[in-house]
Amino acid sequence: RIVSAKQVPMGSYYEVKPNQLLGGGRFGQVHKCAELSSGLTLAAKIIKVKGLKEKVRGENEIGVMNQLNHVNLIQLYDAFESRTNLTLIMEYVEGGELFDRIVDEHYQLTELDAIVFTRQICEGVQYLHQQYILHLDLKPENILCVSSTGNQIKIIDFGLARKYRPREKLKVVNYDFVSFPTDMWSVGVITYMLLSGLSPFLGESDTETMNNILHANWDFDADAFENVSDEAKDFISRLLLSAKCSRLSASGCMKHSWLNNLEEKAKRHRVRLKSQMRLQSYLAAHRQWKKHFYAVAAANRLKRFQQSRSVSGP
Ligand code: ATP
Repeated sequence: RIVSAKQVPMGSYYEVKPNQLLGGGRFGQVHKCAELSSGLTLAAKIIKVKGLKEKVRGENEIGVMNQLNHVNLIQLYDAFESRTNLTLIMEYVEGGELFDRIVDEHYQLTELDAIVFTRQICEGVQYLHQQYILHLDLKPENILCVSSTGNQIKIIDFGLARKYRPREKLKVVNYDFVSFPTDMWSVGVITYMLLSGLSPFLGESDTETMNNILHANWDFDADAFENVSDEAKDFISRLLLSAKCSRLSASGCMKHSWLNNLEEKAKRHRVRLKSQMRLQSYLAAHRQWKKHFYAVAAANRLKRFQQSRSVSGP
């Protein structure tokens, strides 16, 4: 069903739990909430509308989410609009962020788990791309676990997502050069991090990191990838390519051998990955990671800006 923002007080339909904050980002706060008529638990993302920017972003998020119906993408349930807020009522998942799960010492991360997670990310992205939607904000925090025990995940945060319009870049002078491979690059980074616990472009300094990203300069750390299969490395190598047109598409990923024959892999990939131990011993590195992911996003923006000014960029 299509959701449009209702201009009535949401309090008559939903009870937002003020002390059950699920998370907060640059644009809004996400609270647990309940539908009064059914008792159903949902998540309310409350976007403070200070100006046109937040309004456009929120309306865009509703517009994009209305087109989505897939198990690996969070579903929009309802929406409300007031003078000060735009509220998105979404399906609620209770398992928390994927990378928080992975650093939990009670959880044993194997390559098979990484395959199961990556496959679902690719399935969600494949569906998005089939609808001609780009996510443009794929990062560890935007992958949530459905429950605290199972391995099912859902992609969230469609605040930056947009419809791909190939002709648009011709019309707009400084148009971001973004398209489907932009999301696939992020899938490559997430997979690299899942398997190794390392960020692929981390350098000695911020400048070095930026340069590594801009020139797609990375390799497989011998120690971190010691127990990782060649198929997995091949998968990553086909995503972290500076030439956009050479990167695997989401459907290409789904056909890659690493994401297939799971029954046979279940027999082999039972070793606990070093990535998890690495992360457990450096819990603080988690914060470092998040910071680094923003560096990746910033470098991508810089790269797009440079590309929009030169025809020959990668
Ligand atoms: P960003 O600054 O990354 O753009 P944002 O303001 O757009 O953030 P989201 O990324 O959508 O907000 O959500 C912020 C956090 O809230 C998430 O990282 C997650 O931990 C939690 N969250 C969001 N949606 C849900 C949901 N449907 N169920 C459970 N938790 C959620």
